[in-house]
Amino acid sequence: MRAVMQPEPMGLHQILDRCETLFADRPVTVGGGAAGPTTTTYGALFAEARAFAGALAELGLRPGDRVATFAPNTREHLLAYIAVPGSGSVLHTVNIRLGSEEIAYTVEHAGDRVVLVDAALWPEWSAVTLPTCVEHVIVYGDIDELPERHGGAVVTRFADSIAGPAREGRWYRPADENEASGICYTSGTTGWPKAVVYSHRSVYLHALTLCGADTFAISEHDVVCPVVPMFHANSWNLPYASLLAGASLVLPAHRTDPAGLVECFAAGGVTFSAAVPTVWANLVAAARAGDVDPTALDSVQRVVIGGSAASETLLSELAELGIEPVHAWGMTECSPVGLIANPPADGSTAVTEETKSSQGRPMPGLELRAVEGDMPAPWDGTSIGELQISGPYVVADYYGAESGSTADKFADSEERRWLRTGDVVTVDRRGYVRLVDRTKDLVKSGGEWISSVTLENHLLAHPAVREVAVIAVPDPTWDERPLAIVAARGVDAARLRDFLADRVPRWQVPDRFEFVAEVPKTSVGKLDKKRLRTEYA
Ligand code: AMP
Repeated sequence: MRAVMQPEPMGLHQILDRCETLFADRPVTVGGGAAGPTTTTYGALFAEARAFAGALAELGLRPGDRVATFAPNTREHLLAYIAVPGSGSVLHTVNIRLGSEEIAYTVEHAGDRVVLVDAALWPEWSAVTLPTCVEHVIVYGDIDELPERHGGAVVTRFADSIAGPAREGRWYRPADENEASGICYTSGTTGWPKAVVYSHRSVYLHALTLCGADTFAISEHDVVCPVVPMFHANSWNLPYASLLAGASLVLPAHRTDPAGLVECFAAGGVTFSAAVPTVWANLVAAARAGDVDPTALDSVQRVVIGGSAASETLLSELAELGIEPVHAWGMTECSPVGLIANPPADGSTAVTEETKSSQGRPMPGLELRAVEGDMPAPWDGTSIGELQISGPYVVADYYGAESGSTADKFADSEERRWLRTGDVVTVDRRGYVRLVDRTKDLVKSGGEWISSVTLENHLLAHPAVREVAVIAVPDPTWDERPLAIVAARGVDAARLRDFLADRVPRWQVPDRFEFVAEVPKTSVGKLDKKRLRTEYA
Protein backbone atom coordinates (compact mmCIF):
# COMPACT_ATOMS: atom_id res chain seq x y z
CA MET A 1 0.00 0.00 0.00
CA ARG A 2 1.37 3.42 -0.88
CA ALA A 3 1.34 6.14 1.73
CA VAL A 4 -0.10 9.47 0.71
CA MET A 5 2.03 11.78 2.86
CA GLN A 6 4.32 14.50 1.48
CA PRO A 7 7.89 13.34 0.81
CA GLU A 8 9.37 16.64 2.01
CA PRO A 9 13.11 16.06 2.64
CA MET A 10 14.22 16.42 6.24
CA GLY A 11 16.93 19.01 6.40
CA LEU A 12 18.51 22.06 7.93
CA HIS A 13 16.26 24.32 5.83
CA GLN A 14 13.42 23.32 8.12
CA ILE A 15 15.42 24.40 11.17
CA LEU A 16 16.76 27.63 9.64
CA ASP A 17 13.58 28.84 7.93
CA ARG A 18 11.59 28.12 11.09
CA CYS A 19 13.99 29.95 13.42
CA GLU A 20 14.28 32.99 11.16
CA THR A 21 10.50 33.23 10.70
CA LEU A 22 9.30 32.49 14.22
CA PHE A 23 12.08 33.39 16.64
CA ALA A 24 13.66 36.58 15.23
CA ASP A 25 13.21 38.40 18.57
CA ARG A 26 14.82 35.71 20.74
CA PRO A 27 18.11 36.89 22.22
CA VAL A 28 21.57 35.43 21.57
CA THR A 29 24.34 36.31 24.04
CA VAL A 30 28.03 36.03 23.26
CA GLY A 31 30.80 36.15 25.86
CA GLY A 32 34.53 36.51 25.57
CA GLY A 33 34.68 40.21 24.64
CA ALA A 34 36.75 42.70 26.66
CA ALA A 35 33.55 44.54 27.65
CA GLY A 36 31.84 41.34 28.83
CA PRO A 37 28.99 39.44 27.19
CA THR A 38 26.92 41.21 24.52
CA THR A 39 23.41 40.38 23.37
CA THR A 40 21.87 40.38 19.91
CA THR A 41 18.82 38.64 18.41
CA TYR A 42 18.28 35.75 16.03
CA GLY A 43 16.85 38.33 13.60
CA ALA A 44 20.14 40.31 13.54
CA LEU A 45 22.15 37.10 13.40
CA PHE A 46 20.23 35.70 10.45
CA ALA A 47 20.73 39.00 8.57
CA GLU A 48 24.49 38.57 9.05
CA ALA A 49 24.29 34.91 8.07
CA ARG A 50 22.62 36.00 4.81
CA ALA A 51 25.52 38.39 4.20
CA PHE A 52 28.01 35.56 4.83
CA ALA A 53 26.05 33.20 2.56
CA GLY A 54 26.16 35.94 -0.10
CA ALA A 55 29.94 36.16 0.31
CA LEU A 56 30.30 32.40 -0.14
CA ALA A 57 28.24 32.56 -3.34
CA GLU A 58 30.46 35.43 -4.61
CA LEU A 59 33.48 33.20 -4.05
CA GLY A 60 31.90 30.63 -6.37
CA LEU A 61 30.91 28.07 -3.73
CA ARG A 62 28.39 25.55 -4.99
CA PRO A 63 26.18 23.04 -3.13
CA GLY A 64 28.33 20.17 -1.93
CA ASP A 65 31.51 22.28 -1.66
CA ARG A 66 33.26 22.26 1.69
CA VAL A 67 33.73 25.25 3.99
CA ALA A 68 35.79 24.86 7.17
CA THR A 69 35.85 26.74 10.46
CA PHE A 70 38.72 27.13 12.91
CA ALA A 71 37.02 28.76 15.86
CA PRO A 72 35.68 28.42 19.42
CA ASN A 73 32.00 28.99 20.30
CA THR A 74 31.58 32.48 18.85
CA ARG A 75 28.92 34.47 17.01
CA GLU A 76 30.76 34.04 13.71
CA HIS A 77 31.00 30.30 14.22
CA LEU A 78 27.23 30.21 14.64
CA LEU A 79 26.90 32.27 11.44
CA ALA A 80 28.85 29.53 9.64
CA TYR A 81 26.59 26.86 11.21
CA ILE A 82 23.69 28.72 9.55
CA ALA A 83 25.15 30.08 6.30
CA VAL A 84 27.22 27.09 5.15
CA PRO A 85 24.63 24.27 5.11
CA GLY A 86 21.99 26.96 4.53
CA SER A 87 23.71 27.52 1.15
CA GLY A 88 24.02 23.81 0.43
CA SER A 89 27.74 23.70 1.27
CA VAL A 90 29.19 21.27 3.79
CA LEU A 91 30.51 22.58 7.12
CA HIS A 92 33.80 21.08 8.30
CA THR A 93 34.40 22.18 11.90
CA VAL A 94 38.17 21.69 12.23
CA ASN A 95 39.24 20.56 15.68
CA ILE A 96 41.53 23.37 16.87
CA ARG A 97 43.26 21.06 19.36
CA LEU A 98 44.77 18.80 16.70
CA GLY A 99 48.44 19.22 15.75
CA SER A 100 49.22 21.24 12.58
CA GLU A 101 49.94 18.14 10.51
CA GLU A 102 46.62 16.57 11.46
CA ILE A 103 44.82 19.84 10.74
CA ALA A 104 46.40 19.98 7.27
CA TYR A 105 45.44 16.34 6.74
CA THR A 106 41.77 16.88 7.63
CA VAL A 107 41.49 20.06 5.51
CA GLU A 108 42.97 18.26 2.50
CA HIS A 109 40.94 15.11 3.10
CA ALA A 110 37.71 17.14 3.29
CA GLY A 111 38.76 19.24 0.27
CA ASP A 112 37.91 22.54 2.02
CA ARG A 113 37.76 25.52 -0.41
CA VAL A 114 37.18 28.25 2.18
CA VAL A 115 38.18 28.44 5.85
CA LEU A 116 36.76 30.85 8.46
CA VAL A 117 39.39 31.53 11.15
CA ASP A 118 39.11 33.22 14.57
CA ALA A 119 41.82 35.92 14.80
CA ALA A 120 42.78 34.77 18.31
CA LEU A 121 43.76 31.43 16.77
CA TRP A 122 45.82 32.96 13.96
CA PRO A 123 49.17 31.79 15.47
CA GLU A 124 47.98 28.15 15.46
CA TRP A 125 46.28 28.44 12.07
CA SER A 126 49.18 30.17 10.30
CA ALA A 127 51.48 27.32 11.42
CA VAL A 128 49.48 24.92 9.21
CA THR A 129 50.96 24.16 5.79
CA LEU A 130 47.80 24.77 3.77
CA PRO A 131 46.85 22.19 1.16
CA THR A 132 46.20 23.57 -2.33
CA CYS A 133 42.43 22.94 -2.15
CA VAL A 134 42.04 26.01 0.12
CA GLU A 135 41.37 29.12 -2.02
CA HIS A 136 40.23 31.61 0.62
CA VAL A 137 40.94 32.17 4.30
CA ILE A 138 38.49 34.57 5.97
CA VAL A 139 39.55 35.95 9.36
CA TYR A 140 37.22 37.53 11.93
CA GLY A 141 38.10 39.30 15.18
CA ASP A 142 40.81 41.70 16.30
CA ILE A 143 44.13 41.38 14.55
CA ASP A 144 46.40 44.21 13.35
CA GLU A 145 48.46 42.56 10.66
CA LEU A 146 47.33 39.89 8.24
CA PRO A 147 49.32 38.56 5.29
CA GLU A 148 47.73 38.80 1.82
CA ARG A 149 48.14 35.07 1.35
CA HIS A 150 48.38 31.93 3.42
CA GLY A 151 49.97 29.27 1.21
CA GLY A 152 48.08 29.60 -2.07
CA ALA A 153 44.93 31.01 -0.39
CA VAL A 154 43.83 34.65 -0.43
CA VAL A 155 43.37 36.05 3.09
CA THR A 156 40.40 38.41 3.67
CA ARG A 157 38.86 40.03 6.73
CA PHE A 158 35.34 38.87 7.53
CA ALA A 159 33.94 42.43 7.57
CA ASP A 160 35.26 43.00 4.03
CA SER A 161 34.07 39.64 2.74
CA ILE A 162 30.43 40.26 3.71
CA ALA A 163 30.16 43.70 2.10
CA GLY A 164 28.55 42.36 -1.12
CA PRO A 165 24.95 41.28 -1.82
CA ALA A 166 23.29 39.07 0.78
CA ARG A 167 21.55 35.78 0.07
CA GLU A 168 17.82 36.19 -0.49
CA GLY A 169 14.86 33.85 -0.26
CA ARG A 170 14.61 30.63 1.67
CA TRP A 171 17.55 28.58 2.84
CA TYR A 172 18.91 25.69 0.77
CA ARG A 173 16.47 22.79 0.51
CA PRO A 174 18.30 19.54 -0.33
CA ALA A 175 16.82 17.59 -3.21
CA ASP A 176 17.80 14.48 -1.30
CA GLU A 177 17.71 14.52 2.50
CA ASN A 178 20.82 12.29 2.52
CA GLU A 179 22.97 15.07 1.08
CA ALA A 180 25.94 15.99 3.29
CA SER A 181 25.59 18.97 5.63
CA GLY A 182 28.67 18.70 7.86
CA ILE A 183 31.90 16.85 8.58
CA CYS A 184 33.62 16.09 11.87
CA TYR A 185 36.87 14.19 12.25
CA THR A 186 37.39 11.83 15.14
CA SER A 187 40.72 10.61 16.44
CA GLY A 188 41.20 6.86 16.59
CA THR A 189 43.69 4.93 18.65
CA THR A 190 45.96 4.75 15.58
CA GLY A 191 46.31 6.48 12.21
CA TRP A 192 44.89 9.76 10.89
CA PRO A 193 41.57 11.11 12.16
CA LYS A 194 38.53 9.55 10.49
CA ALA A 195 35.78 11.55 8.76
CA VAL A 196 32.15 11.35 9.85
CA VAL A 197 29.96 13.07 7.25
CA TYR A 198 26.53 14.02 8.59
CA SER A 199 23.50 14.31 6.32
CA HIS A 200 20.71 16.90 6.38
CA ARG A 201 18.44 14.09 7.51
CA SER A 202 20.68 12.85 10.34
CA VAL A 203 21.30 16.31 11.79
CA TYR A 204 17.60 17.19 11.60
CA LEU A 205 16.50 13.94 13.22
CA HIS A 206 19.09 14.20 15.98
CA ALA A 207 18.24 17.86 16.72
CA LEU A 208 14.54 17.01 16.84
CA THR A 209 15.25 14.13 19.19
CA LEU A 210 17.23 16.38 21.56
CA CYS A 211 14.09 18.50 21.95
CA GLY A 212 12.12 15.50 23.26
CA ALA A 213 10.73 15.81 26.79
CA ASP A 214 12.56 12.67 27.93
CA THR A 215 15.87 13.54 26.27
CA PHE A 216 17.31 17.07 26.71
CA ALA A 217 13.85 18.68 26.59
CA ILE A 218 15.22 21.77 24.84
CA SER A 219 12.34 24.18 24.27
CA GLU A 220 11.62 27.78 23.35
CA HIS A 221 11.58 28.52 27.08
CA ASP A 222 15.23 27.56 27.44
CA VAL A 223 18.40 29.58 27.34
CA VAL A 224 21.03 27.10 26.15
CA CYS A 225 24.77 27.50 26.69
CA PRO A 226 26.81 24.95 24.75
CA VAL A 227 30.14 24.89 26.57
CA VAL A 228 31.16 21.80 24.64
CA PRO A 229 33.11 23.14 21.66
CA MET A 230 31.49 23.79 18.30
CA PHE A 231 34.61 22.15 16.79
CA HIS A 232 33.94 18.83 18.53
CA ALA A 233 30.98 16.73 17.37
CA ASN A 234 28.90 19.79 16.42
CA SER A 235 28.80 20.94 20.03
CA TRP A 236 26.64 17.87 20.67
CA ASN A 237 24.22 19.31 18.08
CA LEU A 238 22.98 21.86 20.63
CA PRO A 239 23.18 24.82 18.22
CA TYR A 240 20.80 23.16 15.73
CA ALA A 241 18.49 21.84 18.47
CA SER A 242 18.29 25.38 19.92
CA LEU A 243 17.58 26.97 16.52
CA LEU A 244 14.89 24.36 15.93
CA ALA A 245 13.23 24.92 19.28
CA GLY A 246 13.71 28.69 19.29
CA ALA A 247 15.73 28.45 22.52
CA SER A 248 17.91 31.45 23.20
CA LEU A 249 21.64 30.68 22.80
CA VAL A 250 24.53 31.82 24.96
CA LEU A 251 27.99 31.27 23.46
CA PRO A 252 30.94 31.52 25.86
CA ALA A 253 33.59 32.02 23.11
CA HIS A 254 36.96 31.05 24.62
CA ARG A 255 35.84 31.63 28.25
CA THR A 256 35.12 28.16 29.59
CA ASP A 257 36.87 28.83 32.91
CA PRO A 258 34.52 29.12 35.94
CA ALA A 259 34.60 32.94 36.07
CA GLY A 260 33.94 33.29 32.32
CA LEU A 261 31.12 30.76 32.41
CA VAL A 262 29.41 32.29 35.42
CA GLU A 263 29.56 35.70 33.72
CA CYS A 264 27.87 34.27 30.60
CA PHE A 265 25.33 32.24 32.58
CA ALA A 266 24.25 35.31 34.54
CA ALA A 267 24.21 37.64 31.51
CA GLY A 268 22.03 35.33 29.43
CA GLY A 269 19.97 33.74 32.24
CA VAL A 270 21.11 30.28 31.14
CA THR A 271 18.72 27.43 31.99
CA PHE A 272 20.52 24.54 30.23
CA SER A 273 24.13 23.78 29.51
CA ALA A 274 26.38 20.88 28.53
CA ALA A 275 30.07 20.10 28.99
CA VAL A 276 32.61 17.42 29.85
CA PRO A 277 33.06 16.51 33.56
CA THR A 278 36.25 18.59 33.97
CA VAL A 279 34.33 21.82 33.23
CA TRP A 280 31.67 21.05 35.83
CA ALA A 281 34.18 19.83 38.42
CA ASN A 282 36.12 23.11 38.07
CA LEU A 283 32.92 25.15 38.34
CA VAL A 284 31.76 23.27 41.44
CA ALA A 285 35.19 23.69 43.06
CA ALA A 286 35.21 27.43 42.27
CA ALA A 287 31.68 27.88 43.67
CA ARG A 288 32.59 26.02 46.86
CA ALA A 289 35.80 27.97 47.32
CA GLY A 290 33.89 31.25 46.90
CA ASP A 291 35.92 32.11 43.77
CA VAL A 292 32.68 32.58 41.84
CA ASP A 293 29.32 33.73 43.14
CA PRO A 294 27.04 30.65 43.35
CA THR A 295 23.93 32.85 43.09
CA ALA A 296 25.02 33.63 39.50
CA LEU A 297 24.03 30.02 38.78
CA ASP A 298 20.47 30.51 40.06
CA SER A 299 18.88 30.42 36.59
CA VAL A 300 20.57 27.11 35.66
CA GLN A 301 18.04 24.28 35.87
CA ARG A 302 19.84 21.33 34.31
CA VAL A 303 23.23 20.54 32.83
CA VAL A 304 24.38 17.63 30.72
CA ILE A 305 27.64 15.91 31.61
CA GLY A 306 29.13 13.71 28.90
CA GLY A 307 32.17 12.89 26.81
CA SER A 308 33.68 11.08 29.80
CA ALA A 309 32.09 9.34 32.76
CA ALA A 310 30.43 11.58 35.35
CA SER A 311 31.28 10.41 38.85
CA GLU A 312 28.54 10.08 41.45
CA THR A 313 30.40 12.71 43.47
CA LEU A 314 30.08 15.23 40.63
CA LEU A 315 26.40 14.41 40.13
CA SER A 316 25.64 15.03 43.79
CA GLU A 317 27.81 18.17 43.97
CA LEU A 318 25.85 19.70 41.10
CA ALA A 319 22.57 18.69 42.74
CA GLU A 320 23.73 20.43 45.94
CA LEU A 321 24.08 23.64 43.92
CA GLY A 322 20.42 23.26 42.93
CA ILE A 323 21.25 22.12 39.37
CA GLU A 324 19.82 18.91 37.94
CA PRO A 325 22.68 16.91 36.41
CA VAL A 326 21.91 14.77 33.35
CA HIS A 327 24.51 12.18 32.47
CA ALA A 328 24.77 11.34 28.75
CA TRP A 329 26.98 9.24 26.52
CA GLY A 330 27.94 10.21 23.01
CA MET A 331 30.29 9.56 20.19
CA THR A 332 31.09 11.69 17.13
CA GLU A 333 29.80 8.76 15.06
CA CYS A 334 26.34 9.03 16.73
CA SER A 335 25.72 12.74 15.89
CA PRO A 336 26.82 12.56 18.82
CA VAL A 337 24.36 11.92 21.69
CA GLY A 338 23.39 8.25 21.90
CA LEU A 339 22.40 7.55 25.52
CA ILE A 340 20.73 9.66 28.20
CA ALA A 341 20.49 8.80 31.88
CA ASN A 342 17.10 10.27 32.66
CA PRO A 343 15.51 8.01 35.30
CA PRO A 344 12.46 5.87 34.43
CA ALA A 345 8.95 6.66 35.66
CA ASP A 346 9.43 4.12 38.44
CA GLY A 347 9.38 6.74 41.16
CA SER A 348 11.56 4.94 43.69
CA THR A 349 14.61 6.75 45.00
CA ALA A 350 16.85 3.69 44.62
CA VAL A 351 16.08 3.25 40.91
CA THR A 352 16.39 6.98 40.26
CA GLU A 353 19.80 7.16 41.94
CA GLU A 354 21.06 4.04 40.18
CA THR A 355 19.92 5.02 36.69
CA LYS A 356 21.05 8.66 36.91
CA SER A 357 24.68 7.65 37.34
CA SER A 358 24.61 5.19 34.42
CA GLN A 359 25.52 6.26 30.87
CA GLY A 360 21.80 6.04 30.10
CA ARG A 361 19.17 4.53 27.80
CA PRO A 362 19.26 4.86 24.01
CA MET A 363 17.82 8.00 22.45
CA PRO A 364 14.62 7.40 20.47
CA GLY A 365 15.48 5.93 17.07
CA LEU A 366 18.56 4.07 18.27
CA GLU A 367 19.00 0.39 19.05
CA LEU A 368 21.81 -1.07 21.06
CA ARG A 369 23.30 -4.34 22.11
CA ALA A 370 26.29 -5.47 24.17
CA VAL A 371 28.24 -8.16 22.33
CA GLU A 372 30.59 -10.67 23.91
CA GLY A 373 32.34 -12.87 21.35
CA ASP A 374 29.70 -13.04 18.62
CA MET A 375 26.73 -13.21 20.97
CA PRO A 376 24.58 -10.38 22.33
CA ALA A 377 24.91 -10.41 26.14
CA PRO A 378 21.69 -10.59 28.22
CA TRP A 379 20.30 -7.35 29.65
CA ASP A 380 20.86 -8.42 33.25
CA GLY A 381 23.00 -5.56 34.52
CA THR A 382 26.05 -7.77 35.01
CA SER A 383 26.95 -9.47 31.71
CA ILE A 384 29.66 -7.53 29.92
CA GLY A 385 29.96 -6.88 26.17
CA GLU A 386 31.06 -4.28 23.64
CA LEU A 387 28.42 -1.60 23.10
CA GLN A 388 27.15 -1.67 19.52
CA ILE A 389 24.68 0.89 18.32
CA SER A 390 22.54 1.36 15.25
CA GLY A 391 20.08 3.93 13.90
CA PRO A 392 19.39 6.74 11.42
CA TYR A 393 21.86 9.18 12.98
CA VAL A 394 24.67 6.64 13.48
CA VAL A 395 27.52 6.52 10.94
CA ALA A 396 27.34 3.76 8.28
CA ASP A 397 30.99 4.19 7.23
CA TYR A 398 33.83 6.67 7.41
CA TYR A 399 34.13 9.07 4.47
CA GLY A 400 37.06 8.47 2.18
CA ALA A 401 38.40 5.54 4.17
CA GLU A 402 40.50 3.05 2.26
CA SER A 403 38.50 0.03 1.25
CA GLY A 404 38.39 -2.54 4.04
CA SER A 405 40.28 -0.31 6.52
CA THR A 406 37.22 0.27 8.71
CA ALA A 407 35.66 -3.19 8.50
CA ASP A 408 36.47 -3.88 12.16
CA LYS A 409 34.48 -0.80 13.22
CA PHE A 410 31.17 -2.33 12.15
CA ALA A 411 29.20 -5.55 12.53
CA ASP A 412 26.34 -6.49 10.19
CA SER A 413 23.50 -8.66 11.42
CA GLU A 414 19.72 -8.75 11.79
CA GLU A 415 19.54 -6.59 8.66
CA ARG A 416 21.21 -3.78 10.57
CA ARG A 417 24.62 -2.22 10.54
CA TRP A 418 26.00 -1.94 14.06
CA LEU A 419 28.68 0.58 14.98
CA ARG A 420 31.25 -1.06 17.26
CA THR A 421 31.86 1.64 19.86
CA GLY A 422 34.86 0.07 21.56
CA ASP A 423 33.14 0.74 24.90
CA VAL A 424 32.61 -2.20 27.22
CA VAL A 425 29.28 -2.10 29.03
CA THR A 426 26.56 -3.84 30.95
CA VAL A 427 22.90 -3.25 30.10
CA ASP A 428 20.22 -3.68 32.75
CA ARG A 429 16.70 -4.99 32.16
CA ARG A 430 15.38 -1.46 31.60
CA GLY A 431 18.00 -0.76 28.90
CA TYR A 432 20.29 1.42 31.04
CA VAL A 433 23.89 1.08 29.95
CA ARG A 434 26.79 1.24 32.38
CA LEU A 435 30.23 1.68 30.92
CA VAL A 436 32.75 -0.56 32.63
CA ASP A 437 35.65 0.05 30.30
CA ARG A 438 36.90 0.64 26.77
CA THR A 439 38.02 -2.40 24.78
CA LYS A 440 41.65 -1.45 25.09
CA ASP A 441 41.47 -0.29 28.67
CA LEU A 442 40.41 -3.40 30.51
CA VAL A 443 43.09 -4.87 32.73
CA LYS A 444 43.21 -8.66 32.62
CA SER A 445 44.95 -9.83 35.74
CA GLY A 446 45.38 -13.56 36.30
CA GLY A 447 42.55 -14.25 33.85
CA GLU A 448 40.12 -11.91 35.65
CA TRP A 449 38.97 -8.52 34.44
CA ILE A 450 39.62 -5.31 36.35
CA SER A 451 37.80 -2.20 35.22
CA SER A 452 40.15 0.77 34.99
CA VAL A 453 37.12 3.12 34.85
CA THR A 454 35.84 1.74 38.16
CA LEU A 455 39.24 2.27 39.79
CA GLU A 456 39.41 5.79 38.34
CA ASN A 457 35.95 6.63 39.64
CA HIS A 458 36.80 5.41 43.14
CA LEU A 459 40.11 7.27 43.19
CA LEU A 460 38.40 10.44 41.96
CA ALA A 461 36.10 10.23 44.97
CA HIS A 462 39.17 10.73 47.23
CA PRO A 463 39.24 14.43 48.16
CA ALA A 464 43.00 14.77 47.49
CA VAL A 465 42.81 13.34 43.95
CA ARG A 466 42.31 15.78 41.07
CA GLU A 467 42.89 13.56 38.04
CA VAL A 468 43.63 9.93 37.51
CA ALA A 469 44.18 7.46 34.69
CA VAL A 470 44.47 3.72 35.22
CA ILE A 471 46.18 1.66 32.53
CA ALA A 472 47.23 -1.95 32.13
CA VAL A 473 50.96 -2.65 32.38
CA PRO A 474 52.56 -6.03 31.62
CA ASP A 475 53.27 -8.19 34.68
CA PRO A 476 55.36 -11.39 34.74
CA THR A 477 53.05 -13.15 37.22
CA TRP A 478 49.56 -11.90 36.42
CA ASP A 479 49.97 -11.01 32.69
CA GLU A 480 48.72 -7.51 33.42
CA ARG A 481 48.37 -5.28 36.44
CA PRO A 482 46.72 -1.87 36.81
CA LEU A 483 48.92 1.20 37.17
CA ALA A 484 47.37 4.40 38.51
CA ILE A 485 48.77 7.70 37.26
CA VAL A 486 47.53 10.31 39.69
CA ALA A 487 47.52 14.09 40.01
CA ALA A 488 46.96 14.69 43.71
CA ARG A 489 48.06 16.75 46.69
CA GLY A 490 48.97 15.61 50.20
CA VAL A 491 48.40 11.90 49.78
CA ASP A 492 50.72 8.95 49.18
CA ALA A 493 50.36 5.56 47.52
CA ALA A 494 49.82 3.71 50.80
CA ARG A 495 46.87 5.93 51.76
CA LEU A 496 45.31 5.56 48.29
CA ARG A 497 45.77 1.78 48.44
CA ASP A 498 43.96 1.67 51.79
CA PHE A 499 41.21 3.89 50.40
CA LEU A 500 40.69 1.58 47.42
CA ALA A 501 40.90 -1.59 49.50
CA ASP A 502 37.69 -0.52 51.25
CA ARG A 503 35.93 -0.24 47.90
CA VAL A 504 37.13 -2.96 45.52
CA PRO A 505 38.44 -6.51 45.97
CA ARG A 506 41.99 -6.35 47.32
CA TRP A 507 43.49 -8.08 44.26
CA GLN A 508 42.21 -5.24 42.09
CA VAL A 509 44.09 -2.53 44.03
CA PRO A 510 46.98 -1.22 41.87
CA ASP A 511 50.45 -2.10 43.11
CA ARG A 512 51.96 0.89 41.42
CA PHE A 513 51.03 4.56 41.67
CA GLU A 514 52.81 7.27 39.71
CA PHE A 515 52.29 10.86 40.85
CA VAL A 516 52.26 13.56 38.17
CA ALA A 517 51.42 17.28 38.07
CA GLU A 518 48.80 16.71 35.36
CA VAL A 519 47.55 13.60 33.57
CA PRO A 520 48.19 14.01 29.80
CA LYS A 521 45.08 14.61 27.66
CA THR A 522 44.25 14.20 23.98
CA SER A 523 43.26 17.10 21.72
CA VAL A 524 39.67 16.80 22.94
CA GLY A 525 40.52 16.69 26.60
CA LYS A 526 40.23 12.96 27.24
CA LEU A 527 42.83 11.03 29.20
CA ASP A 528 45.59 10.20 26.71
CA LYS A 529 45.87 6.52 27.54
CA LYS A 530 47.65 5.76 24.28
CA ARG A 531 50.52 8.00 25.32
CA LEU A 532 50.46 6.75 28.91
CA ARG A 533 50.63 3.13 27.78
CA THR A 534 53.70 3.91 25.65
CA GLU A 535 55.32 5.85 28.49
CA TYR A 536 54.74 3.33 31.23
CA ALA A 537 54.69 0.03 29.30
P1 AMP B 1 34.13 11.27 20.95
O1 AMP B 1 33.72 10.71 19.65
O2 AMP B 1 35.45 11.97 20.91
O3 AMP B 1 33.06 12.10 21.57
O4 AMP B 1 34.39 10.06 21.94
C1 AMP B 1 33.42 9.08 22.15
C2 AMP B 1 33.83 8.24 23.31
O5 AMP B 1 33.89 9.02 24.51
C3 AMP B 1 32.88 7.12 23.62
O6 AMP B 1 33.08 5.99 22.79
C4 AMP B 1 33.22 6.84 25.07
O7 AMP B 1 34.38 6.02 25.16
C5 AMP B 1 33.55 8.21 25.61
N1 AMP B 1 32.38 8.76 26.31
C6 AMP B 1 31.47 9.60 25.85
N2 AMP B 1 30.53 9.86 26.77
C7 AMP B 1 30.86 9.15 27.87
C8 AMP B 1 30.28 8.98 29.17
N3 AMP B 1 29.19 9.62 29.56
N4 AMP B 1 30.89 8.12 30.02
C9 AMP B 1 32.02 7.49 29.67
N5 AMP B 1 32.61 7.61 28.47
C10 AMP B 1 32.04 8.44 27.57
